[in-house]
Amino acid sequence: MTISALLAPRSVAVLGASERASVGRGMVEALERIGFAGAIYPINPKYSTVVGRNCYAGLRELPEAPDVVSFCIRNDGVVANLRAAAERGARAAVIYDSGFAELGHDGKAMQDVISGICRDAGISLCGPNCMGVLNPPARSTTFKQEVRDPKGLIGNVALISQSGSVAASLLADLRRFGFSLVVSSGNEAVNDSASYIEFAIDDPHTKVIATFTETVRNPDRYIAALDRAADKGKPVIVLKVGRCERVRAAITGHTGGLAGGSRVFSEVLKAHRAIEVEDLDELTEVLAVCQGARWPRGRGINVVTTSGGQAELILDVATASGIALNPLSAQARAAVERDVGRVTGDGNPLDAWGRGDFRATMPQALRLLTDNPTTDAVVFCSSDSFDNQALGRLGREEDYARLFAEAAGRSGKPHYFMTMRPGVMHGGQLRILAQAGVAVIGGTRQGLGAIDRLARWNMPPARQRASTLAPAPELAAGRRTINEADAKRILSAYGLPVTRETIVATLEEATTAAQAVGYPVVLKAVSDDIPHKSEHALVAVGLGDAHALAAAFAGMERSVAKLGRPILGYLVQEMIGDGVEVFAGVARDPDFGLTLAFGMGGVGVEVLRDFALRAVPLREGDAEAMIAEPRGAALLEAFRGRPAADVAALARSLYALSDFAAANSDRIDEIDLNPIKAGPTGCVIVDALIVARQR
Ligand code: ADP
Ligand code: MG
Repeated sequence: MTISALLAPRSVAVLGASERASVGRGMVEALERIGFAGAIYPINPKYSTVVGRNCYAGLRELPEAPDVVSFCIRNDGVVANLRAAAERGARAAVIYDSGFAELGHDGKAMQDVISGICRDAGISLCGPNCMGVLNPPARSTTFKQEVRDPKGLIGNVALISQSGSVAASLLADLRRFGFSLVVSSGNEAVNDSASYIEFAIDDPHTKVIATFTETVRNPDRYIAALDRAADKGKPVIVLKVGRCERVRAAITGHTGGLAGGSRVFSEVLKAHRAIEVEDLDELTEVLAVCQGARWPRGRGINVVTTSGGQAELILDVATASGIALNPLSAQARAAVERDVGRVTGDGNPLDAWGRGDFRATMPQALRLLTDNPTTDAVVFCSSDSFDNQALGRLGREEDYARLFAEAAGRSGKPHYFMTMRPGVMHGGQLRILAQAGVAVIGGTRQGLGAIDRLARWNMPPARQRASTLAPAPELAAGRRTINEADAKRILSAYGLPVTRETIVATLEEATTAAQAVGYPVVLKAVSDDIPHKSEHALVAVGLGDAHALAAAFAGMERSVAKLGRPILGYLVQEMIGDGVEVFAGVARDPDFGLTLAFGMGGVGVEVLRDFALRAVPLREGDAEAMIAEPRGAALLEAFRGRPAADVAALARSLYALSDFAAANSDRIDEIDLNPIKAGPTGCVIVDALIVARQR
């Protein structure tokens, strides 16, 4: 496996090493400073020695095949030297310089040459356009930064970042966690993020994997890696850029890849148990929460504070961020009143100042929460403090930290020491808490949000629906769009509720059919070539009798003639008077496969983009959650004498749609059920369209 030659090398050749201050010289010094135990080979024809080491004229002159070659040279020398490295038997390479695929066409051609050489020779490659690899536990580096404190770097976070400066930013704050591996992966010409995640999953030093992602290059392999990480109990935290269109345009120019649809990506991450975060603050706090020895087993967070105002602020911020701080039970409140002091509010957050004897009341409050059955995580937050403060009694901050560390040590539940603001932390407290193994989090939104994210990750995932249904033979026929009548017939065979209807050719047949269906009826033209009927006046609703039907029929014949496209006939359909119009659909993402969407009909989906999305197949609970998710979902509730919609029936239909899509996943590109009418007892699909996949 050459990837270990890249990530944990036993020998490093530094191409472009120099006596003068340079990247090459810096790399030799960084290797020495980190305590690299393997061979270091400086290469430069201009020198016989570099920092006191024997310097080689070229790669061919090396006494052995190196594990990794660190390319501390400009991009114009890369191709020739990479060929030489391949000939000398190098197992891996790191190319830092830019000027490749991120520039567009010309750069892409040079990058293709590089990846060709690597693939032919079986060389693992980090970059180009990157900062390289740092492996603190293995004491190795090809990372383009000086090493100042090798011991301080070591920890359990594997960081895989497509951006070098984001990696450097995270490495700048080592107060609460260190790193088992850092890869700045750049353009990923050969090795991509998924391959580094795979390494980290098997790396015994790694407890949690953090990624900064602009582009997923191999979606199948990436998803498989996420699944395996979750199985192994290692959370993968994903900070993805490109959530807005403008950023996406910039990314195309930046790393030479295309960012996928960001909502689809978010749902895929959720479905494969990765933890998605929105910014570096949130990422950092999840990493901090993971440092605790015990992880929360449920989402019950209880906060203890030292003041009432602080408690109110924390509750406001948490609520606005969607983090539930559930009230204490009457029983637990009574216990607090007895042992701690008067409870203001509903006891979460709990102002534990109590009688004023904080050394006694704080441990009491914490113990009550350990005993409280609905508490899964205990958080303590006092006033923020920082090093070298101008005010306050010296040593008081450390006292708080010690009290809290002692309480945490007596409890079987995870404890978190929280500051109100992210990043504002007191060095003395951090030392005490780190020694006691207590995680420190910063910022109510980011810190509590991180506990909540890890708690959700740590809870058993909902069961994925396994579809055992056979694919629909009608979809294999090579037809692209499948009209309403056929689409409904196919779907109804999979248990989806559709309107009663008959295809007819003449008015006479239409009249007979209408009698059987029962007035009022709906008349529509049926054609694979006309996916949107009403814009061509090919839908007539609410036809109350034979006269109305005859008039509509004549009018529709004229519309068909005017449009000049072939039709298969006319559809006489039951009219569904009651109910709210909703939309359900399935679409294919080029990278991540099928997703299922649900929203309110009409303007809800098309104009307001107000819809819920999930990866196919749905998990248990997804359909119910999706129906409640759009802002327009309130329309499904009872309103001014109108009864509530039958959301249970709607959920059954979404599950049936997911099962159908899963059974036919390689045969469909798109399904539109628009609208479904959701009535007080049951729901009915009144229009359907299937777009089959072209092979
Ligand atoms: P289009 O191809 O234009 O989407 P639809 O079949 O969806 O045509 O019909 C247009 C609209 O007519 C629907 O959005 C719905 O409001 C109404 N409609 C269609 N069929 C029925 C029906 N069977 N019962 C009640 N309303 C219907
Ligand atoms: Mg429609």
